[in-house]
Amino acid sequence: MSAVTVRVPAKVNVQLSVGGRRPDGFHDLATVFLAVGLYDHVTAAPAEGLRITAAGRDVDRVPLDGTNLAARAAVALAKRYGVEPDVHLHIDKDIPVAGGMAGGSADAAGALVACDALWGLGAPREELLALCAELGSDVPFSLAGGAALGTGRGEILTPLEVGGEFHWVFAVAEGGLSTPEVYRECDRLRRADGGSDLASDLPAPGADAALVAALREGSAAGLASALSNDLQAASVALRPALADTLATGLAAGALAALVSGSGPTCAFLAPSAGAATTLAAAFPAAYPALSPAPGATLL
Ligand code: ATP
Repeated sequence: MSAVTVRVPAKVNVQLSVGGRRPDGFHDLATVFLAVGLYDHVTAAPAEGLRITAAGRDVDRVPLDGTNLAARAAVALAKRYGVEPDVHLHIDKDIPVAGGMAGGSADAAGALVACDALWGLGAPREELLALCAELGSDVPFSLAGGAALGTGRGEILTPLEVGGEFHWVFAVAEGGLSTPEVYRECDRLRRADGGSDLASDLPAPGADAALVAALREGSAAGLASALSNDLQAASVALRPALADTLATGLAAGALAALVSGSGPTCAFLAPSAGAATTLAAAFPAAYPALSPAPGATLL
């Protein structure tokens, strides 16, 4: 069997509603994921044993050992099917590392699809999705792509209809933010405001009907007015320069701006492809991308 390559998209959470902290430490979420056309490529080639290499953006921050999410995915799939995890995984990164765009999750989904093909397992999609959910909250959506409501920890997906294309610009920040640290800061801010951060005290989050309708209608103006991210205040508290980044994008013509997931990448919704190009030029490192994008795709 020769090498296979899988293309996997980044995501932006156009709604990220964070419930209280559960006894298991996770937070209940109601999040709307939108896959965007910024991709990593995962190539699986025959090898003896498991080997990982990487190239591309932020490659020095990608672990090349068993902690790489793509390696964990390969091991989990091999174990599930009782085969040896013999594969050379090469990851070509375009998705910023620790940028709140689910780069590691994308690589895990890509590795599952690539290893399934390389090893000729023919795993049913439901099986792959179940393995994704074990690997991380964002991994099932990286496999699925398009747009979806994520509930539970974000891993329970309901596909959503998208009635048109949206133009985004992603401003990449220097260095990453740790997702667990951003959640801890969100909890701390809730307590500092005199409130509770516990799931037992806070209402369960739900989908925003106006946002879901804007996606279905393909309305950029509707989506712009409905964007929300409950983690944004925590990300900005940990990285105050993000407030300037958000303001710069709005001044450069964005319909709306928000921190992507736990940040520090900032997402800007543009009214057109031309406006996205102008917007991207306002930042030292920013990338236009279209949404929705397909999920993990065998090339
Ligand atoms: P999310 O949006 O899902 O919270 P993120 O995009 O902010 O995640 P990742 O790019 O997934 O963050 O990286 C988080 C950490 O995971 C990195 O700092 C890195 O140490 C580790 N990691 C493990 N595997 C990978 C991978 N394949 N690519 C990038 N980082 C990885």
